[in-house]
Amino acid sequence: MAKILIIEDEAKLADILAYNIREEGHEALVALDGLAGLEKFRCEQPDLLILDLMLPGIDGLEICRLVRRDSDVPIIMLTAKSRELDKVVGLELGADDYVTKPFSMVEMLARIKAALRRSNAQVRRSSVLRAEDLEMDVARHMVTIDGGTIDLRPKEFELLRVLLENKTRVLDRTTLLQRVWGEDEYIDAGTVDVHVRRLREKIETDPAHPARVLTIRGLGYKYAE
Ligand code: CA
Repeated sequence: MAKILIIEDEAKLADILAYNIREEGHEALVALDGLAGLEKFRCEQPDLLILDLMLPGIDGLEICRLVRRDSDVPIIMLTAKSRELDKVVGLELGADDYVTKPFSMVEMLARIKAALRRSNAQVRRSSVLRAEDLEMDVARHMVTIDGGTIDLRPKEFELLRVLLENKTRVLDRTTLLQRVWGEDEYIDAGTVDVHVRRLREKIETDPAHPARVLTIRGLGYKYAE
C-alpha cells in the first residue's frame, strides 16, 4: 500500500482519482490548491505525487521545483493539453511521468503502478549510512538511533547526510551551506549553526554536550568518529 497525494484544483477529477486509487488498495490524499498541496506534501510525506500543472496560487511547476529540492518522490504531472506537455517536458523539471488530460483511469492506474515499482526498486538500491547506533536510509528518508525513528526536517536530514558522508572530516560553514542549501540561495552562515542546534536537539543524548555532531572551534563541524 502506498500513500498518494493528489494536488488538483478540479475537485471532481481529484475525487474520481482518489476513489480509484483507494480501490487499488492505496491511501489517497487530496489538496485542491498549490499551497495546501505543498503543506500536505511536507507533513504527510507521500510515496507518490500526482500534480496538476495549472493550479491557483503556486502552480505545478513551482511545486515540482520545491519538492525536488529535498525529495526524490515519484511525481506524475497532469497537463491539460499536449502543447502544455511539450513545454513542461522541455523544462526537465524532474517529474517522472506526464499524463495529458483527459486520460483513462486504467491508463492512469498503470502509470501509478509503474512509478511506484520504479521507486521501490530505487529504495532497494539505496545507500544506508551508519555511525554506531545511528542509521540513515537515504532514499527512504529515515533516520533511526538504536532502532527508534528520529523525525528530521528535510534540511536537518540533508545536513546530517553530508556530515555522515564526510565522517571524521571537518566541514566549514561555507561548505555545508553549499552542500545543503545550494549556491543559489541567499542564506547566511548562521543558518548552519541554527540547523546544527536543531539537529543536536534531536539526535544527541545531551545537546549541550554533543557526542555526535562536534564543533571544531574556528573551523566548523564534523561527525564524531
Ligand atoms: Ca488545473
